[in-house]
Amino acid sequence: MPPHTRSAWFKTLGLLALVLALALATGLLLGHVGLVLALAALGVVAWHYWKLRGVLLRLTARRRIAPPAGDGVWNELDHLLYRGQQEMRDRKRRLIGMLRAYRAVADALPDAVVVVERNSQRIAWFNAAATRLLGLHYPRDIAAPLGERLQPLPIAHWLAAGRNAEPLTDTASPGDPDLRLSLRLIPYSEDLWLLVARDITRLTRLEQMRRDFVANVSHELRTPLTVVHGYLEMLDESGLDPAAQQEWAPMLAEMRRQSQRMTQLVEDLLTLSRLEAQDALVDEAVAMAPLLATLGREAQALSQQRHAITVEDGAGVDLWGSTRELHSAFSNLVGNAVRYTPAGGSIAIGFARAADGGAVLSVRDSGYGIPATHLPRLTERFYRISTSRSRESGGTGLGLAIVKHVLGLHQARLEVTSEVGRGSTFSCHFGPERVRPRGHDSWSEA
Ligand code: ADP
Repeated sequence: MPPHTRSAWFKTLGLLALVLALALATGLLLGHVGLVLALAALGVVAWHYWKLRGVLLRLTARRRIAPPAGDGVWNELDHLLYRGQQEMRDRKRRLIGMLRAYRAVADALPDAVVVVERNSQRIAWFNAAATRLLGLHYPRDIAAPLGERLQPLPIAHWLAAGRNAEPLTDTASPGDPDLRLSLRLIPYSEDLWLLVARDITRLTRLEQMRRDFVANVSHELRTPLTVVHGYLEMLDESGLDPAAQQEWAPMLAEMRRQSQRMTQLVEDLLTLSRLEAQDALVDEAVAMAPLLATLGREAQALSQQRHAITVEDGAGVDLWGSTRELHSAFSNLVGNAVRYTPAGGSIAIGFARAADGGAVLSVRDSGYGIPATHLPRLTERFYRISTSRSRESGGTGLGLAIVKHVLGLHQARLEVTSEVGRGSTFSCHFGPERVRPRGHDSWSEA
């Protein structure tokens, strides 16, 4: 007990003892000890009830009433209760202030934030930006089913995936079809999920402008390049006198090589633009046996007997996708394997089933290999480990970017493992939904 409270307690006890002593003395004086003591005790009880009533009144009053001054136990109790009440009020005010500040922050956010109840998938709360971006209205949409409110968006499917839901990028806003949104689902507690929608309209527009620009420039470059390339091919040094021939021949050869490289660059850029402009490809059954044979032949033609090339078709299935694009992607991998493997090395093209029911096309080489630090950035446009080696080998720096895009359009992924000095393996993993049965198994060595 704190000293103040203790002294109040003893004071009250002392007062009680004094009253009883006075009652006893008066009783003895009057000759009615029992009666006077009983009256005094009754008075003490009445006084306590009166004090209790005062405390109750102050506790239940709408206004805050400060307890009266005094130093008895009831005043002490009153003071303690008043202090507790005041502390609670302060804490509540602080909490409300914090809550208001958080709400103000959430409302100031340019991104739409929606709190969703996990089990019922109903909307628990949303900020101001959710009205503009998602077309939600307060209070109408509180407790409304999220999937129903954001109907045009493929939300139901996405919510079902829950924790594993991939962000939805570039979807039209249900509130305003001109707005492009990127949506993320963040499970932040056992019962609540956060849906965050970001306005990416400007970004999408800029991205579109970039794509159009690259596509247009590449397209515009194509014709003059074809003309220059054509004339260079026609230029025949044999008409020149020997001295001029010696002087011009290496220059003409270099010009031809460079114009060829530029043509290839433009073609690769156009391919990338074409792939980027598509959300999906026209799918068909991709006959893998002839495709693998073609890849083998292409490798042989590029290698010119400098490498040992094998093709192993162990999957016995076909793929479902675009033959043309898959051929272009696999050709890029085979081309890289030949170009980045010194003479005498080996290249193995393989097609096998994966444990998950899918299939993997892999191109393994015993070439220079790739340092681990470069692996994550390999599929970026124009990313090269050694510019000189890539240029020497006739690379454009766009091959793996094309591979990544083609695989993306097939919901497949590229995996690269490599060891410097020992070689690399590029594997294209296709899901079970991309696998189609083939009539027979085949194995060929190109
Ligand atoms: P490039 O046209 O320059 O070959 P790519 O996009 O096809 O462009 O490849 C990017 C870079 O990755 C290459 O410059 C090369 O450094 C590296 N690379 C690709 N394939 C291999 C490989 N099989 N072995 C070693 N390095 C490779």
